[in-house]
Amino acid sequence: MKVDYIVVGFGLAGMAFTEELERANKSFVVIDDNPNRETRVVGGMYNPIILKRFTPAWKAHEMWRQALPFYKELETKFKKKYIYPFEIRRILQSVEEQNNWVVASDKSVMTEYMIPQIIHEDIKGIKAPFGYGQLENVGRIAGEQLLDDYKERIKKNNQFIRESFEYDRLIIEKDRLLYKDIETSQLVFSEGSYLHKNPFFKYLPMREAKGEMLLIEVPDLSIDFAVKSSVFMIPFGKHIFVVGATYNWEDKSFTQTEKAKDELENKLKRFLQLPYKVIAYKIGIRPTIKDRRPLLGKHPKYPNLAVLNGLGTRGVIIAPFIAKELFNHIENDKPIYKEMDIKRFENLYA
Ligand SMILES: Cc1cc2nc3c(=O)[nH]c(=O)nc-3n(C[C@H](O)[C@H](O)[C@H](O)COP(=O)(O)OP(=O)(O)OC[C@H]3O[C@@H](n4cnc5c(N)ncnc54)[C@H](O)[C@@H]3O)c2cc1C
Repeated sequence: MKVDYIVVGFGLAGMAFTEELERANKSFVVIDDNPNRETRVVGGMYNPIILKRFTPAWKAHEMWRQALPFYKELETKFKKKYIYPFEIRRILQSVEEQNNWVVASDKSVMTEYMIPQIIHEDIKGIKAPFGYGQLENVGRIAGEQLLDDYKERIKKNNQFIRESFEYDRLIIEKDRLLYKDIETSQLVFSEGSYLHKNPFFKYLPMREAKGEMLLIEVPDLSIDFAVKSSVFMIPFGKHIFVVGATYNWEDKSFTQTEKAKDELENKLKRFLQLPYKVIAYKIGIRPTIKDRRPLLGKHPKYPNLAVLNGLGTRGVIIAPFIAKELFNHIENDKPIYKEMDIKRFENLYA
């Protein structure tokens, strides 16, 4: 089989790149080994604002502007709903935080998201004596569903192979790559937190951050917005909420831990004063880079191998943006933003 591209890894990054290929009428095969949808996407929220400091995340506004139309087009393509807009209410902890909120909400990009007035609303079961700062134009993508639907579609077209990519079966020639019975001219690795296993790109400095979340049912709470205190409580409809997340920089396993459950429940109980039931767990590993920027570009020695990674904590809004960047770089030689380009780590390549 001869294709224009092989894509290894089908999380948000791989899916966004695959979609770029489809839109450009390129032929491709996707290789992915993950049968477990619970370890993908996890929170699914799109929110460009850092709610600790009330500042925008790096380039997040620009990325958000590209991300929403991208997911809207996928809604049209699959005739399904994937975008669930909701407001986020940040519980303010003091008068000082109230003032900081008002000041921040006046800054250029922030006016798109932050409502300047402090919301003082008594919501039964939620403790917020200093009120809420409210964000709009934010929400959640049903990413797991989207990945499932996309995968089904490419499976039907024989464009999906479920297996672990065997690096030692790759033959690299000047103008082509051979992998088993597939011939291609370009291979893109979008392997998320498994980057360290990739012999070509493992020199790149990833710091994986495991995160755990709880799925809870709160029968007496029927709010349709997310609440943010020291954890998020994200509405999933029908009194179901996702609570999270933890950060663990040491444990790289996909197992659920009591420690994380306790931490999440302790933080939750600081503001939620209603009975709830834990109904499921969600675990993922964030592919985070030392400098908190995405990671994309061509291999220093083998330019027909490329990497698309470093989605970190904001994969939903980053993926469509960097997929387009990488595609334009490979196809049209468009330079990549230097902050995202893997060239910034060339000194680590021996
Ligand atoms: C608890 C938690 C909550 C989060 N909440 C949010 C949120 O609310 N909003 C947000 O935007 N982001 C959130 N994130 C971050 C987001 O989930 C990630 O940024 C994103 O999922 C990373 O996508 P990816 O495609 O790079 O990697 P992944 O989703 O990990 O996909 C990589 C895929 O490649 C496969 N793979 C790897 N190596 C190989 C190989 N050699 N052969 C075959 N297949 C391979 C893997 O099995 C996997 O399927 C959260 C993360 C966590 C952990």
